[in-house]
Amino acid sequence: MPEGHTIHRLAQDYAAAFRGTSPRVTSPQGKFSDAAALLDGAELTRTDAHGKHLFLGFRDTDWVHIHLGLFGKVAFGPASAPPPTDTVRLRLANTAAHVDLRGPTTCALITGSEKQAVHDRLGPDPLRADADPREAYRRISRSRTSIAALLMDQKVVAGVGNVYRAEVLFRHGIDPYRAGRDITPAQWDAIWADLVALMREGVRTNRIDTVRPEHTPEAMGRPPRVDDHGGEVYVYRRANQPCHLCGGEIRTAGLAARNLFWCPGCQTP
Ligand SMILES: [Zn+2]
Repeated sequence: MPEGHTIHRLAQDYAAAFRGTSPRVTSPQGKFSDAAALLDGAELTRTDAHGKHLFLGFRDTDWVHIHLGLFGKVAFGPASAPPPTDTVRLRLANTAAHVDLRGPTTCALITGSEKQAVHDRLGPDPLRADADPREAYRRISRSRTSIAALLMDQKVVAGVGNVYRAEVLFRHGIDPYRAGRDITPAQWDAIWADLVALMREGVRTNRIDTVRPEHTPEAMGRPPRVDDHGGEVYVYRRANQPCHLCGGEIRTAGLAARNLFWCPGCQTP
């Protein structure tokens, strides 16, 4: 499942390639054909993202709501697009570029008020300018649920996935099983500010790096991490390896249907 920085990056990439143009809109797979016919040749006026939800705005009031889910993929390419395969749910093509969407959980034409309903059920997103972190803290500070589970709950905070939750808790020395109500306002402010900075960097570089300058491979004289997710991290998918700070063993356990990673030496209950 992509994390929020990937979706915001896609919103930027769709806008860079298509905003202000009137692309051909097709659904080679057929599942989005009726909506594609309504949008074909309309101007793409703006894009938006909230958590893991991507929105493509056409004309004044039409939005395509996309959620990639576990298997959705987006692929950009140059103009003179090759004939699409029948797995392409949505293709946009103009004189400069094309983009194919395959396998999303959601791809639907919605109105502005339906889009607002999606925003209303999501928590604040660290990558959105309109996000209010106090809204998330109101839920966190009343909850007996672990902070690790709360960070993954899209109604509490939108866009944080398994990597950012593990890494931000490590960076603040917080045990992932600590209850939400035991997180202080100052700790939440620090976690939020860190998520904003880390996720903005993720949008910029299109990957997740969370280690501080003194813990990079170069600074520590250690080999770079080898992982198909890329990026330098403290604990994510580093189970049984030594912690970059204390040398203790990184642990893993299942929580909220996903694997959790943490350092018992650095993260206190
Ligand atoms: Zn440690």
